[in-house]
Amino acid sequence: MTDAGAGERVCGVCGRALPASMLRPVAVVSGAVRATLDRDEPEWAHTSWICSDDLRRARQTTIEEMIREDHGELTVLDRAVLKSLAASGTVTVNPEEVYDKRLDFGDRLADRLAGFAGSWTFLLSFAGVLVLWIGVNSFALFSAPFDPYPFILLNLILSCVAAVQAPLIMMSQRRQEEKDRLRSENDYRINLKAEVEIRRLHEKMDHHLLMQWDHLTRLGKAQDEIVRQLRAGSGADRKG
Ligand SMILES: [Zn+2]
Repeated sequence: MTDAGAGERVCGVCGRALPASMLRPVAVVSGAVRATLDRDEPEWAHTSWICSDDLRRARQTTIEEMIREDHGELTVLDRAVLKSLAASGTVTVNPEEVYDKRLDFGDRLADRLAGFAGSWTFLLSFAGVLVLWIGVNSFALFSAPFDPYPFILLNLILSCVAAVQAPLIMMSQRRQEEKDRLRSENDYRINLKAEVEIRRLHEKMDHHLLMQWDHLTRLGKAQDEIVRQLRAGSGADRKG
C-alpha cells in the first residue's frame, strides 16, 4: 500500500494513493459490482475509496458476466457493445454507409444494372424493341428480312439477356441480404446496449433509494434522540 500525500487518498482495492478527483466513495458501488469486487478482490476495504479505474473494471466484468449468463459465449457484437460501454461511446453505425464503403466497381455496376432491369423503363423499352423486331421481320418491310420467322436471332438474344440477368439478380439479392444483415447487427448492438444501460440504471436507482432510506432512518433516529433530550431538559427545568 502506498502512503497518501496531501490531498491524496488511498484506493481500497489497488492500494494506490491518488488525488481525490480520481477516487469515488465506496458507498456509490452498487450491489452487483460489489459482489464482483468481493469475489475478485476479497481483500478490498469496503469502508474507504475506490479509484475510477478499479470501479470501471469491476463494472465491465459485471456486465460481461451478465451478458454471458444471458447469451452464452460472447460474440463479436457483444464485445463491440462491451467496448463501447467501457469507452462510454456509441455503438450505432449507419449500415448504408458501411455497406457503401464495401462495394467495388463491379458491385456498383451490377446494382445499377439490376435496378434498371427491374424497372418499368426497361420493361416497356424491351417490349417496344420486341414488337419492332417482330414487326419488321414479319411484314417483310425489307425484301430479305434479317431474322425471318421463327426469329432465331431474336431467340438467341433473348436467351443471352436472360442468362446475364439471372446472375445479376442473384448478385443484387446477395447484397440486399448483406445489407439486411448489417442492419440487424446494428439493431442487436443497440438493443443489447440499451438493455445493459437500463439494467445499470435500475440498479443505480435501487442503490440510491436504499442509501437514501438508510440516511433517512439515521436522521429519524437522531431527531428522536434530540426530542428526547429536549423533553428531559424541559422536565428537569420544571422540577427545578
Ligand atoms: Zn484502485
